[in-house]
Amino acid sequence: MSEVTGSGSARSGQPVVLGRPAVSGAGHRSPLTTEADRLFTICNACRYCEGLCAVFPAMERRRLFTDGDVDFLANLCHNCGACLFDCQYAPPHDFDVVVPETLAKLRSDTWERYAWPAPLGHLFRANAVAVSVAVVAALIGFLAVVGAVNGTLIERHTGPGAFYQVVPHGTIVGLYLAASGFAVAAMGISIRRYWRTIGGGRPTLSDLRRAGRSAGTLEYLDGGGPGCVNDDDTPDDTRKRYHHLTFYGFALCLAATTLAAILEGAFDRVAPYPVWHPVVVLGTVGGIGLVIGPIGLLAAKRRRADGLTDPGSRSMELAFLGLLVAVSVTGLATLVLRATVLMPLLLVVHLAVVFAFFVTAPYTKMVHGAYRYAALVNDAAERRRGRLSPRRRNS
Ligand code: SF4
Ligand code: SF4
Repeated sequence: MSEVTGSGSARSGQPVVLGRPAVSGAGHRSPLTTEADRLFTICNACRYCEGLCAVFPAMERRRLFTDGDVDFLANLCHNCGACLFDCQYAPPHDFDVVVPETLAKLRSDTWERYAWPAPLGHLFRANAVAVSVAVVAALIGFLAVVGAVNGTLIERHTGPGAFYQVVPHGTIVGLYLAASGFAVAAMGISIRRYWRTIGGGRPTLSDLRRAGRSAGTLEYLDGGGPGCVNDDDTPDDTRKRYHHLTFYGFALCLAATTLAAILEGAFDRVAPYPVWHPVVVLGTVGGIGLVIGPIGLLAAKRRRADGLTDPGSRSMELAFLGLLVAVSVTGLATLVLRATVLMPLLLVVHLAVVFAFFVTAPYTKMVHGAYRYAALVNDAAERRRGRLSPRRRNS
């Protein structure tokens, strides 16, 4: 048996002897994708983890791995961590199989690679700086607007239209339509590039539904059943619960804003609304979820063991979660203190933070939801075509 090596381990830098020709290591775009190819080839021979999530069955549908396959599998991974603690070939074994960290690095790589416009992809690596600059710039812009309108941030405004006495309605609508339109367009183009590279075809409605169910329940963040693994081999659902609070909190806040826009645009029912109003209830419940969820995720990150995450993405994750907390805290504070003289100041800070959130969204961790959904749709389509179930061998 010839000692032909794979690409070598990106972690240890040492060549890994597989004892057979490495037929699929050549021609990748980077050492990271070559390393992923090496791991997938080992996993496909081992198959011990195929009941843990959708990634391993998707691997098994392939004999060789293109860069597109690697990008697809990286975003299908939910980073539950189970395959590190379950792996008999993890360090100190010579095979040095560390799937979660490798896929986490690849995810960041794909988000930067497919970003639109391409030069802004670098913002993923300087995320904390980019988010801070966006917040400060937005704050200066809104302060300039306030200065042009009435010039004071400490003043009591009440009754319908109170918010618009601080910043005019047309200014808010115009700025937010531009920011959110840019975010949707940039993320849409990025996802289209990704979709083409992973070889995604035309999905059916059932593919979209199945992927939506998986994404909405975080089906694959449970390590095959017992939960997410952190700094020991005792899994739990803590991260899943905090992620749900974050995602559904955000969805409720979005629903509140959309409802308010419809009421104002179509029915001339102008904010602020009374405390029992659906807009306020949705915004309050969502805002509380959007405070607890990200803070819980921040705390949970401290418990994650080496080999589970990408150390290079830590500041991006902190910036994103910090921005979410800032959005919800400033929103709730504006709501609670809207009848006081502090309302103009709080409103301006909230508007600036939300504007910065939308403008930077295509270059923050916000994109992970879109990429994961696309990967889940592709997985559902592959399973439909191949009549495969991700956990078929355990069912
Ligand atoms: S992660 Fe390890 S145990 Fe799991 S399939 Fe791959 S090589 Fe096997
Ligand atoms: S970390 Fe979890 S979701 Fe990702 S490949 Fe491993 S078992 Fe699957």
